[in-house]
Amino acid sequence: MVKVGVLALQGAFREHREVLAALSADTVEVRTPEALSGIGALVLPGGESTTMTRLLRTSGLHGALSEVLRDGLPCLATCAGLILLASEVLDGRADQEPLGVLDVSVRRNGYGRQLESFEAPLDVEGLAGPFPGVFIRAPVIERTGPGVAVLARHDGRPVLVRRGPVWASTFHPELAGDLRLHELFLKEVA
Ligand code: GLN
Repeated sequence: MVKVGVLALQGAFREHREVLAALSADTVEVRTPEALSGIGALVLPGGESTTMTRLLRTSGLHGALSEVLRDGLPCLATCAGLILLASEVLDGRADQEPLGVLDVSVRRNGYGRQLESFEAPLDVEGLAGPFPGVFIRAPVIERTGPGVAVLARHDGRPVLVRRGPVWASTFHPELAGDLRLHELFLKEVA
């Protein structure tokens, strides 16, 4: 099985590592461009996308990550991780330049204050029963570009999308107590 790098600048990277370890995947924390060598897949966790974008710049990972992702490295991005990948961020900070490797427009904190965090069962393409969607100050995908497949929706809006080897969710599968989404991703990329 491939070694999975987990971006570990900030946010829920430990939880992703735990899920991957439970699936017997070998993981490594990524904090520098050097840590990208030798990995066969990458996880971008949730957290705070403005902070993460700043740390991507100061660590030199901004350029290094866009390069490996453009070269086809499989990636599972969740919540703030999806915001990092997007081609357009709405309601972001002025200096929040995303990596632009997934053609979606995403609105930060798109559910507003009243619905900041919630759970909802999701019908996910490729999974047999409902998957528990944990949404925490989640972004909303407002546009998907050509070639971006929608694998799950909530209230009609895409919450899990995929373009080739790049998967991205607005919810937190690493907090769901359900390993199936990580398992599906690993199965496809291993
Ligand atoms: N609202 C956060 C952001 O803009 C994302 C929230 C999350 O990752 N749970 O980065």
